[in-house]
Amino acid sequence: MLLRRLREVMAEPVAAQTRLDRIVVHIAANMVAEVCSVYVLRADGRLELYATEGLNREAVHLTTMRAGEGLVGLIAESAEALALADAQSHPAFSYKPETGEEIYNSFLGVPILRGGNTLGVLVVQNRVRRVYSEEEVEVLQTTAMLLAEMIASGELQSIVRPGGDIALRRPLALTGAPVADGVGLGYVVLQRPRVIVKQIVAEDLKKEAERLDESIAVVRGNIDDLIKRGEEDGPGEHRDVLEAFRLIAHDPGWLRRLHEAVRTGLTAEGAVERVQNDARARLQRSTDPYMRERLHDLDDLANRLLHQLTGEPLTTAAADLPDNAIIVARTMGPAALLDYDRAKLRGLVLEEGGASSHVAIVARALGIPTIGEVENITTLVEQGDAIIIDGSTGEAHLRPPSDVQEAYAEKARLRARRQEQYRSLRDQPAVTKDGVKIDLHMNAGLLVDLPHVDETGAESIGLFRTELQFMLAPQFPRVNEQIALYRAVLESTQGRPVTFRTLDIGGDKVLPYMRTYEEENPALGWRAIRIGLDRPGLLRSQLRAMLRAGGGRELRIMFPMVANAAEFDAAKAMVGLELAHMTRHGHEEPRSLKLGIMLEVPSILWQLDEILARVDFISVGSNDLVQYLTAADRDNKRVSTRFDPLSAPILRALKLVTDKARETGTPVTLCGEIGGKPLEALALIALGYRGLSMTASSIGPVKAMILALDAGEAGRFLSPRLAARDAAPSLRAELRAFAEASGVPL
Ligand code: PEP
Ligand code: MG
Repeated sequence: MLLRRLREVMAEPVAAQTRLDRIVVHIAANMVAEVCSVYVLRADGRLELYATEGLNREAVHLTTMRAGEGLVGLIAESAEALALADAQSHPAFSYKPETGEEIYNSFLGVPILRGGNTLGVLVVQNRVRRVYSEEEVEVLQTTAMLLAEMIASGELQSIVRPGGDIALRRPLALTGAPVADGVGLGYVVLQRPRVIVKQIVAEDLKKEAERLDESIAVVRGNIDDLIKRGEEDGPGEHRDVLEAFRLIAHDPGWLRRLHEAVRTGLTAEGAVERVQNDARARLQRSTDPYMRERLHDLDDLANRLLHQLTGEPLTTAAADLPDNAIIVARTMGPAALLDYDRAKLRGLVLEEGGASSHVAIVARALGIPTIGEVENITTLVEQGDAIIIDGSTGEAHLRPPSDVQEAYAEKARLRARRQEQYRSLRDQPAVTKDGVKIDLHMNAGLLVDLPHVDETGAESIGLFRTELQFMLAPQFPRVNEQIALYRAVLESTQGRPVTFRTLDIGGDKVLPYMRTYEEENPALGWRAIRIGLDRPGLLRSQLRAMLRAGGGRELRIMFPMVANAAEFDAAKAMVGLELAHMTRHGHEEPRSLKLGIMLEVPSILWQLDEILARVDFISVGSNDLVQYLTAADRDNKRVSTRFDPLSAPILRALKLVTDKARETGTPVTLCGEIGGKPLEALALIALGYRGLSMTASSIGPVKAMILALDAGEAGRFLSPRLAARDAAPSLRAELRAFAEASGVPL
């Protein structure tokens, strides 16, 4: 048995080159081939001959070829096996004279794969025209797995020639989407660590086949249970993913391939890895996004199976986090991130989640640099790899070379210094050079946000997104729990007001424990106040909790997604009912109660008279307002940045609100993301906005901008540009030039 023999060679206490030399001798002998050679893929993209039996030994470490060059290069590029009786007539054939290979006619080569990535090529050759059987191809592929382990283990490092670094450990620069600002330097911790299969070669094939069947049965059962209970298996995995798992877990083709792999001499674990390697190599090169999505499902399922087989835990335990950890995950739910020790977390990298995912909200609240939509990251990294991420650009540097490391360390130092400067502005009021006071408020939604109110010197919490706590909770929070939460929020701000927003669920914000309805256009669907009005029990219990928590204090409540005055009236009537209920039960009423709306639905722009006659305040939710005004989904990266909010139509709409509100003296703030960006905030001040609510980390930069700004001058600069008939699709460049010319830091 070749595999068994090779396993002994792997265990021998010899130098790496000697081991490789012995391996090729054994493979050649076992396969009755005159030649067996190992080529390893280098960081520079070339394949280097690392060992050979049969070709000229002098060529080892000297002969190299490009990926795509010759048959070996073709295999590396396609990641597929190639068996040829007459190799020389293949169009890709070329030979290296120094190896003396021209006398060999038949050729069988297989890729050395790990995680779907090619690490090298393993080849056997014969002088005669020989047709290699399916079984021989299989055996060589299995053998290549042992070599993959050897390369991945780093053992070959000792025989790397200068300048010939091995591809596996090469530095990689990847780009994803920016999610949460900040630079993170640290080491990869896979949320779902891959099982490193150590035992590839089977002792007892029958036993391995049984182990395989047993584990598949357990994994199938687990998936069925999860589906039946209607639960998600850990955060981030939704029902459709589980359904996909179930389909694959019962796919006869998949099962057949696993059993075939065991029959070639592999352990159950080895078989899972082998079948998954093939699938990855095939699907990763697919240009069809649907197929690539299936690859993820297959990967996850294979991983579950490996964990079941080895008994290793499926996820990295939050308690086992090493220092300077950068968590790498396919997706993550918001609660999972809160489980990790903040002091050890340096960053988060997601393969799928983007800036609008729920975990992004938590990451920003915790100040954890985060990037998302980094394709394939979970297969490209190894546990413990050095990694640097930049949450403001979406870049990741995997195994960074020292110059990149130094550059980022410097960037991190600079950032810390700037934060220090912002902190020094904390107690300074945000007043422009021409004496206009701007109220800077903070957006919050989690208890972890609350200390920031004091740290940043925010005037108040301008937007408390109550749904976040609901999204994190395992079940619908009871009135008493809600009262305790809202009370904690009010107490933490030391007398500064808090504007609570009632539940803004629906759309992409789902409560795991609440029944959801399939909607074609969730952003235009049954959400926010619409649910609240249709399910008065829900809204009233929340209002009751807010009123009770606000007893004896100043309380502000606003309603999201209001589309007409009647909706506000109906919501206000519910508040009235709850107030009456309160007094009947002898609870203390709020000292002052202000009710307002979020201005997110464009129809409000043409009902400002009716609305302003009713509300105590308006908060402009520009995230939604802009998405509806431009008919561009804020969560769809193809279109979300297509239209610049710094454009005449959007700015005109925003101006309408401040102009009208000034007439009635109704306070207006803006609490969408644009309020926290210095250049956008500059434009808003120029339009007449005097209150902005933003994430904690934006308050410093926006205040620094305000202190250097002349608001009157900004207004005079913007006004003619808004009125102009030839308005460009974006006023950004002009505004930026204005800021630079006026010495306003952005
Ligand atoms: C908005 O729409 O601008 C807003 C602040 O609300 P959210 O981002 O929670 O939808
Ligand atoms: Mg909104």
